[in-house]
Amino acid sequence: MKVDADRFLVKAGSRVRLRRFGTADTRPFESKEQAEGRLARDIARLFGLQEVLYAEQRWSLLLVFQAMDAAGKDGVIKHVMSGLNPQGTTVASFKAPSAGDLSHDFLWRVSAALPERGRIGVFNRSHYEEVLVVRVHPELVENQRLPEDLVTRKLWEQRYEDINAFERHLARSGTVIRKFFLHLSKEEQRRRFLERLDDPAKNWKFSLADARERERWDDYMAAYEEMLSATSTTHAPWYVVPADHKWFTHLAVASIIIEALEGLGLAFPKPGRAQRRELQLARRHLEGGRAGRKR
Ligand code: ATP
Ligand code: MG
Repeated sequence: MKVDADRFLVKAGSRVRLRRFGTADTRPFESKEQAEGRLARDIARLFGLQEVLYAEQRWSLLLVFQAMDAAGKDGVIKHVMSGLNPQGTTVASFKAPSAGDLSHDFLWRVSAALPERGRIGVFNRSHYEEVLVVRVHPELVENQRLPEDLVTRKLWEQRYEDINAFERHLARSGTVIRKFFLHLSKEEQRRRFLERLDDPAKNWKFSLADARERERWDDYMAAYEEMLSATSTTHAPWYVVPADHKWFTHLAVASIIIEALEGLGLAFPKPGRAQRRELQLARRHLEGGRAGRKR
């Protein structure tokens, strides 16, 4: 049994209504136990694909994660990336921008964190915060010190356009992009926040600011809907992944990444004639060396 992740895809140009995407869907699995072993198998598959990606040094894979607090971004990154070769992966977490970040355009800091060819790059939050948290708190636009004439009612629409153009440019340069919105219910977030308050080992994860953002839930959902509708493209699609059951979120994300890599038709580079000759020479050398020691 496998997760068919197509149902989480936001089709390019479609109008997203988040209510139509479930937060608790776990099909075809009925329980975590039933899915036992599946994630380990997927991670082993991912490991194999990553090796070839790395060897080819042509494509790179960018995974973008966005979500409300406590939706489990950190857990997905930890579980799904756990079996991969750390040398071929990078994780960048985007917090509130620093003064240095703010003296550049909003894509500057993300550009600097993009994965090299052959690597998998994970964005824990991303340039999308610019049309989410900044949209919900328009006072943050002030901090960006944009020339006044440029801040018009079209600002958000222009940012969607710029993001799409940026991602298309990346795609055309060999960066495969997959974007994940971990879709959590408001009730499950409440439960997880309470757990963070109750469990001393989880206290550090809670901040009053998170609880305050929760009060703006509907504004965030509206910003997400508009953003998902405007920026899911064929070259950089969004997936709305159910996040109420963490084990299922991990499976769904893993299967989407596997599908993306499998679609590339990756293969270990084949040595050319000159290199084959070199390999032969090396073999003769090594075999000669062993015989030499024996004598
Ligand atoms: P955790 O899940 O562990 O809480 P986190 O990703 O929520 O991790 P925090 O340090 O709690 O990390 O939050 C980062 C904060 O930075 C978020 O509130 C986010 O909205 C904010 N942020 C990220 N990018 C921007 C941006 N471009 N402009 C303004 N705020 C931003
Ligand atoms: Mg947080």
